[in-house]
Amino acid sequence: MDINTICVHGNAHKTDDTGCVTVPIYQTATFAHLGVGQSTGYDYSRLQNPTREQLEQVVAALEHGVDAMAFSTGMAAVATVMELFKMGDHIVVSNDLYGGSHRLFHHISEKNGLTFDTADTTEPSQIERCIKPQSKAIFIETPSNPMMQVTDIAAVAKIAKAHGLLLIVDNTFLSPYFQNPIDLGADIVIHSGTKYLGGHNDTLAGFVVVATTELSEKLRFLFKTIGACLAPFDSYLLIRGIKTLSIRMERQQENALKIANWLCRQPKVKAVHYVGLPSHPGYEISRRQARGFGSMISFETDSEQTARQLLERVKLILFAESLGGVETLITYPMLQTHADVPQAEREAKGINERLLRLSVGIEGADDIITDLEQALK
Ligand code: PLP
Repeated sequence: MDINTICVHGNAHKTDDTGCVTVPIYQTATFAHLGVGQSTGYDYSRLQNPTREQLEQVVAALEHGVDAMAFSTGMAAVATVMELFKMGDHIVVSNDLYGGSHRLFHHISEKNGLTFDTADTTEPSQIERCIKPQSKAIFIETPSNPMMQVTDIAAVAKIAKAHGLLLIVDNTFLSPYFQNPIDLGADIVIHSGTKYLGGHNDTLAGFVVVATTELSEKLRFLFKTIGACLAPFDSYLLIRGIKTLSIRMERQQENALKIANWLCRQPKVKAVHYVGLPSHPGYEISRRQARGFGSMISFETDSEQTARQLLERVKLILFAESLGGVETLITYPMLQTHADVPQAEREAKGINERLLRLSVGIEGADDIITDLEQALK
């Protein structure tokens, strides 16, 4: 089925006999049994809920996985995946990652006995150098947050397979509309559903999609045991959001390309990181492994003063932490998304007082540019 059709009709699963066009919200915590040992297939909403199930089937279909689980947030999804590992296990992670994942790995997973090595995963040989006998997985984000680094998923999958490691890919920035890591050899795909999948900056959500039934069994067990599942109403909002995923992604990408090109011409902007610019080091890999470049841009201004002035002067663009929604948002990674990453580590990656991150929305591109122009003056 065409991806646009999956977005609108999902798996075309019929949820009741009324003919309702949208999925009902099964706002129930539990389900009655007809008799001892008899179940409708639904026992308790932490385990199964028909609204959430519908959403999970759509996301599994979009990501070409065998199963998808819908979590209350993206971080709940990442944290649950970490429970696949035990004390002493080692994971190689991208050196540029969402700050919340970094915080989870170094403040919680390490406390639980896992160890991590960070590698510049844009250079797959660097991953190989970090692998040890205790290694169990490679965790990458591509494009990465916030530096937009692109990792060659198929090349990393080859390394993971050769060493018997799981490849986990956070696919939040491109969404399944533009990129399907499982097709390139990933075992587990993670999303912050709060972003492009939800698409309206109104709901928190997360997803784990798996490539095999074995991983589905392990993760379903963790999902029901840890319990960070998505509520029925939020599942409905995600289903609704996904219906327009394709047109939002196309429009946001079109706007992002115009804005990135405009930013490149601004004297107060010293560097523009947008995967869709042919000058981006990951441009060719992106063309090979994805169907689009997305709409996340980060850029470096000439001074801290310019960065702060821009944040304070924008009118249409909202100075807020998140991404992927219809509204254009601007973020200060140093003080927001990556505030908990140690300063030296952060600055070594380029997350400094001059770096801003823009999540381009679906407004008129010229209006976004006019707003940036007046804020930069
Ligand atoms: N992964 C990435 C790439 C993110 O940008 C975020 C949040 O910004 C997350 C995961 C965490 O998602 P959530 O905020 O839904 O918990």
